[in-house]
Amino acid sequence: LHFDGVPMFENDGSYRGMLFLLHDVTSIRRLEVMRSEFVANVSHELKTPIAAVKGFAETLLAGGVKDEETARSFLQIIYDEGDRLNRLIGDILELSKIESKRAPLEYAPIQLKELFDSIFEVLQSAADKKSIVLHHGIPEHMFIEGDEDRLRQIFMNLLSNAINYTPDGGRVKVETQIKHEGSEEEKIKFIISDTGIGIPKKDLPRIFERFYRVDKARSRNSGGTGLGLSIVKHLVELHHGTITVESKVGEGSSFILELPFMHNLE
Ligand code: ADP
Repeated sequence: LHFDGVPMFENDGSYRGMLFLLHDVTSIRRLEVMRSEFVANVSHELKTPIAAVKGFAETLLAGGVKDEETARSFLQIIYDEGDRLNRLIGDILELSKIESKRAPLEYAPIQLKELFDSIFEVLQSAADKKSIVLHHGIPEHMFIEGDEDRLRQIFMNLLSNAINYTPDGGRVKVETQIKHEGSEEEKIKFIISDTGIGIPKKDLPRIFERFYRVDKARSRNSGGTGLGLSIVKHLVELHHGTITVESKVGEGSSFILELPFMHNLE
């Protein structure tokens, strides 16, 4: 609690009393704590790849590596870690843009089948490499009103996670259901499910937090930044939707999204 006092005077200048203002600063404090935790996390996340780039470059510069194959593998690490830094910074900027509301949504009608066809086209080669079957059964006539780039980002993130965290030979699919409220078609429910490694029960409530990963090493190896799901959650909320997750270790995960069909355009 923050406490301010000012003296008050009558019109003739005589002393009337004190006016005290009590400010509740708990929410401001909480924001400050969250911000400084975020900065600490970001610094930590950036330090690891930077240390790798510096370390391997130093070794190469010192001329200690005579064998060309080893030198090339060090260069590859430097390149990959550079790539990782790039993705991290991209995701951090994206998150800050969304949070500061500098990126208002541009609503338009979107044909969902077309959207998913084009997303699947991009992800097909990653799925083929692991012999994962991708499937969506979205009918031609299904439309939603939303920001196309943002919706693409949401589904791209969820589906690339599904592919990443599913072993070879699995399957990833998207299903939709229409939810009625009264007689109105109000919401569209998307279920993105995989036959992957699953998420332990104790981690489920935390996976939408920034930088939270169940298995750090696994996420790093697959090129993850740990920010994907927090970006997804923000974007879903900007669309006035909700996202939840159900999962069983060793069986798979389902991310369930509900988005309104239409928006009252302000
Ligand atoms: P990352 O870049 O690490 O994938 P995300 O924010 O996208 O970060 O996801 C956070 C964590 O949630 C991941 O590190 C992973 O542990 C878990 N996760 C996300 N999607 C899945 C999935 N489909 N199956 C299993 N685990 C998942």
